[in-house]
Amino acid sequence: MRLYNTLTRQIEDFTPLRDDTVRMYACGLTVYARGHIGNFRTFVCLDVLRRALRHVGGHRMRQVVNFTDVDDKTIAGARKAGVALREYTDRYIAAFREDAAALGIEPAEESPRATDEANLRAMVETIEALEARGHAYRSDGSVYFRISTLPGYGKLARLDHAGMQDGARIDSDEYAKDAARDFVLWKATGPDEPTWDYGVGPGRPGWHIECSAMALRLLDGSPIDIHAGGVDLIFPHHENEIAQSEGSTGEQFARFWVHVEHLLLGSDVKMSKSLGNVLNVQDVLERGHRASALRYVLLSTHYRKQLRFGWDSLAQAEEALRRLMDCLGRLESVTETAAGAPAAFPEGRAAIRGRVESARETFRARIADDLNTPGAIGAVFELVRDVNTAIDAGELGADDARTVREAFDRFDDVLGVIALRRREEAAPPVDVTEIERLIDERRAARRQRDFATADRIRDELDARGIVLEDTPAGTRWKRK
Ligand code: AMP
Ligand code: ZN
Repeated sequence: MRLYNTLTRQIEDFTPLRDDTVRMYACGLTVYARGHIGNFRTFVCLDVLRRALRHVGGHRMRQVVNFTDVDDKTIAGARKAGVALREYTDRYIAAFREDAAALGIEPAEESPRATDEANLRAMVETIEALEARGHAYRSDGSVYFRISTLPGYGKLARLDHAGMQDGARIDSDEYAKDAARDFVLWKATGPDEPTWDYGVGPGRPGWHIECSAMALRLLDGSPIDIHAGGVDLIFPHHENEIAQSEGSTGEQFARFWVHVEHLLLGSDVKMSKSLGNVLNVQDVLERGHRASALRYVLLSTHYRKQLRFGWDSLAQAEEALRRLMDCLGRLESVTETAAGAPAAFPEGRAAIRGRVESARETFRARIADDLNTPGAIGAVFELVRDVNTAIDAGELGADDARTVREAFDRFDDVLGVIALRRREEAAPPVDVTEIERLIDERRAARRQRDFATADRIRDELDARGIVLEDTPAGTRWKRK
């Protein structure tokens, strides 16, 4: 595999450092809202990276994808909702799992929460190591990282050291590149804030220390092979992770840094929870689209290019998937006799076998070339076209059909759309207009005090995966 490494700004050969196992850490969702499809662009691309490392690279995986369940935003969200932090973040973790499963994302080996005690203790140990090595200082009950003590600070984001002001501090988790400052490792908390005390005084972790500590703890120390996330994380988050991890161990933190470009909505703006221009996976499903089509859209642009999301792209994806599934369906019906006197077409049969071989070769080469998913999808559809032509010409025998099916299965090990579509077809989603019609019928039944019918409709929808919720504003529904 060859991968673009943000650290060196170059495409490099990738192999894991130890025992053929890729130790990979990806920054997970900040669980103060349901993840949007921009977040899921990053998670789906990283899922394909994981699958490619296994099935094309031939490596084993040890992957960590965390949940950021304590930071400025989760604390503010929980306070606003009037619930405890853990209860608040539990909801969005459950929603993430639901959406990730719908999109066919393979679970990582580890999905830690920052507020698990073992992780909080690891954060405090990292901070203590930073203090011992002279990289941290205390002020007003908080602990800060002094960036002037680390000569390499800024190497990932390529910061200009001249603009850095020694001793200037910043407490917020996120800030702009031109505001490189000493950042907070452990924050003093107010009376109503979640607080832990494991050795550096009462307080709570800063966002950046969470990932450094979880990565080092769960991936057996440095260096890890790959650290990944969306491009917005390069600064300050990943720069600060490097500072903390390398400052506390004296060793390189991560060998490869992989960053996925943004998904944009409409007029070139990044989809972002703080901007409020978000669509989530459930919104897409409620418009009658299938998750397999969304996954396909998310993979049809190279991960290092911006992706402008539009509803028309989902319609095109549906059409492409229909062609792919039709071809697979036709393969099922190929029998030796239907191939029409196969012995009469030995050249044709040799040719299709050759085409399958070269499609497999091209697919692998494109995926191995910095995860060129649009190119790899192109190779799949060239084969679809050739297979359809061969079936039309009666040049495909049952054993050829098996070879072709095997090739599509191997493509799908990496892309993960065919398996998803099959799963969806086994349990077809209820059409939105039908749901609304049934909700209307139920409302009419209730108005006539025919509660038996109303309950029957509710149960019927429930059995088909649709839950109803009666609110003062009317009945709402969602998919289970
Ligand atoms: P967050 O919940 O903001 O910490 O983000 C979770 C992951 O989604 C991170 O890797 C982000 O970089 C990524 N991300 C956030 N917004 C977008 C977007 N519009 N497009 C692609 N990735 C994104
Ligand atoms: Zn992180």
